[in-house]
Amino acid sequence: MTADSLERLVPCYIKSFDAYIPSKPDPELKQFFGCSTLYRLNNNENPLGPPPAAQEIIKQFAPYRAAVYPSGDSYYLREKLAEKFQLHSDQILVGNGANEVITFVIKAFCEAGDNIVTADKTFAVYEWVAIFSGYEARLVPLKDFYFDEDGMLTQIDARTKILFICNPNNPTGTYWNREKLCHFLDQVDGRQIVVVDEAYCEFVEKEDFPDGISLIDRYPNLIVFRTFSKMYGLAGLRIGYLAGSLDVVNIIRRACVVYSVNTLAQEAALLALDDPEHIARTNRLVKEEKAYLHRELTRLGLSFVMNEGNFVMVKLPISDTFAYRKLMSRGVMVRTMTGFRYPNYIRITIAPHEAMEALIQGLEAIL
Ligand SMILES: *Cc1c(COP(=O)(O)O)cnc(C)c1O
Repeated sequence: MTADSLERLVPCYIKSFDAYIPSKPDPELKQFFGCSTLYRLNNNENPLGPPPAAQEIIKQFAPYRAAVYPSGDSYYLREKLAEKFQLHSDQILVGNGANEVITFVIKAFCEAGDNIVTADKTFAVYEWVAIFSGYEARLVPLKDFYFDEDGMLTQIDARTKILFICNPNNPTGTYWNREKLCHFLDQVDGRQIVVVDEAYCEFVEKEDFPDGISLIDRYPNLIVFRTFSKMYGLAGLRIGYLAGSLDVVNIIRRACVVYSVNTLAQEAALLALDDPEHIARTNRLVKEEKAYLHRELTRLGLSFVMNEGNFVMVKLPISDTFAYRKLMSRGVMVRTMTGFRYPNYIRITIAPHEAMEALIQGLEAIL
């Protein structure tokens, strides 16, 4: 193939888009940075792993079953979720992680010339999928680390199809309470699709935090995302879902790839839902270690953004990529945030005490 024909074949929005480069596997990183252990504090995973019942079913998975296709629409999991949330099972679509359901929604509603609206400093996949699919992403600056309701509403035009809210927001941990979310939905008044991404909702214990799924009846243009990757400890199996009104979900179903969710993920997710004690255990750990980090970061004179969720952002007086390399050589992996429009911030996943100690010792040594 000549360079000319490649040039001709590629749409301009793909030409100007840079691929996201994920981090290398742990053994490669350990060898490169010369560390023998590695605390992964970069992806907001649950350090306690999946709930025990989910671990058990993974252990018992009969290898021959790998030859058989999974349920194409996660039948039993949808039944279970429908019962849990008092919905019809057809109001739920399961995907290969919440990441995949983002693509379902954008594909179902956007065409050439359309746009989506979200924040500038939030989970970047909404923006990325829109852009590499050829749609405009309108990014509204956060206001004091919060999604800006008025800013988002003023960005809406005749070609706006979807508004994405991350609640609580990754990476700032801020959230809209029930009143604020309902006010926003009242203003949109059913003219656009509103997605509320609740990837971290199980970590929020505040009374006024809204359960988006309970609002679907009242707001048929509302779609809620949830994932098994964070609280439920199943990130490696890739499973997440969306819930919405029947009419809206029936449209999205047309843009959805069946068989993308594997058998083991479906079965582990089903069992993970039944373990409130695992959630309580995880939240106790998160609370204790946040208190420890609060004390230690304050002692080090660092400013930080610590709100809901199992993560904290820390502002460094030095380059975040330099800090990343230094921390990696001590076996601590954090997320650099310059690429996410937070220059020289790092994001840290809350993890067991020894990991948090290693992080603080590392920061102390670098600064
Ligand atoms: C991690 C995360 C997701 C994606 O989760 P997967 O189910 O692993 O694809 C979605 N939204 C937010 C805000 C996240 O932090």
